[in-house]
Amino acid sequence: MATDWMQDYQGALKSSGAFREFFNEGFDENEMADRSSVIDTYSFLLPKKIAERIKLLGRDSALAKQFLPHLDEKTNSAGMYDPIGDKTHSKGGQIIHRYENRILFAPTTVCPVMCRYCFRKNELNEKDDLFNADFEKTLQYLKENPEIEEIIFTGGDPLVLSNQKIIFYLNAFSEIKTIKYIRFHTRFVTTIPSRIDQGFVSLLTEASKKFESVIVAVHTNHLEEFDSEVDAAFLKLKALPIQLMSQTVLLKGVNDSETVLIDLFKKLISLGCRPYYLHHPDEVKGGMHFYLPLEDGRKIYAKLRNKLPGWAIPQYIIDIPGGHGKVSAFNPESYRFSRELITLDGSILKL
Ligand code: SF4
Repeated sequence: MATDWMQDYQGALKSSGAFREFFNEGFDENEMADRSSVIDTYSFLLPKKIAERIKLLGRDSALAKQFLPHLDEKTNSAGMYDPIGDKTHSKGGQIIHRYENRILFAPTTVCPVMCRYCFRKNELNEKDDLFNADFEKTLQYLKENPEIEEIIFTGGDPLVLSNQKIIFYLNAFSEIKTIKYIRFHTRFVTTIPSRIDQGFVSLLTEASKKFESVIVAVHTNHLEEFDSEVDAAFLKLKALPIQLMSQTVLLKGVNDSETVLIDLFKKLISLGCRPYYLHHPDEVKGGMHFYLPLEDGRKIYAKLRNKLPGWAIPQYIIDIPGGHGKVSAFNPESYRFSRELITLDGSILKL
C-alpha cells in the first residue's frame, strides 16, 4: 500500500500536458506554448501542493520562479553541462570523491521536484552514466580508501528511496569501521514534508546509534516554501539526536536580497535548523537566468552580519567551475587574489 508521501509524490504534475492543464489561466497562449516546450528539453516535476500555492502566489512568486519551466532554459546557451566537475571526480559505483575525507553517494537520479536552477540538471535529465547502480563497487571503494570518514547521500534526492532501501545502505556502511558520519542532503522537507514519516524518524534514530554523527541538510531557498506541514516536519527532525542544517542557493530574482535571506535564516533558526551553506549559483547550462555576479552576492552577504549573529549566518561558498571544489565565496583571496574587503554596508574597502 502506498504511504502518504508516496501518494503525494505519485500525484505530482509531470508532463507538459499536466502543466498546461493546471496553469492554463496563468499564461497567455504564446507564453504557455513557450514554457511547455521547455519540458521537451528539461523534465518537469511539481508536487500538487506546491503547484496550488504557486497559483495563489502568482507567476512572479519565488516558488513560480524556482519550479515553473521558463523559455530562458532553452534559449540562453551560456553555462556548462557539468559545472562542478562531477564527472572529473566520479569513481563509478555511484561515488563522487572530491575531498579526501568524504564522498558523495548518489544512489538515485530522482527528485521530489525539478528545480529549474539545478546544478545537475543536464546530468539528471540525460540519466548520466554517473548514476549507474553498482553498490558492490561502492563498498569496495570505501574499503580501499580508509581515509573516507563521511558518506553524503545525494542524487537526485536520496529520500526518494524507501526507508527499507536507506536502512539497507546504512547497515552496509556501518560494517565499514572507518565511516563515522552520515549526511543526507534533501529537498523533500519543504516540497513533500510527509516524507518525514515515522519510518524515516526511526531510521535516523537508529543510525545515530551506529555512527558518530548523522546530519540532515535541508535544501530551502525562500520563506514561501514554508507552511504548517513543513514546520511540523522540521520540528520532528529537530527532536532527533541528529544535526539539522540547511543549504540555500543564492538565485537571481528569487532570494538575492538581504531581507529575503534574513527572513529565511530566522525562520530556520526558529525551527531548530542551523543555516549551513549559502551557495553561489553554479554556471549551469539551462540555469544561467538565475546567475548573478560574485561581487553582487558578496555585497548581499556582507550585510547579513549586521542583522544576524555569526552562528545564524551560513558559510557563503562557491564551487570553482571545473571541479576544483568549494571555497569561501566571501573571502576574496580564496577566489582570486585581491586586496579588497567588503564592509558591513556593502562598500569596498581597499587594503
Ligand atoms: S532537488 Fe536538488 S538535485 Fe533535485 S532538481 Fe532540485 S537541486 Fe537538483
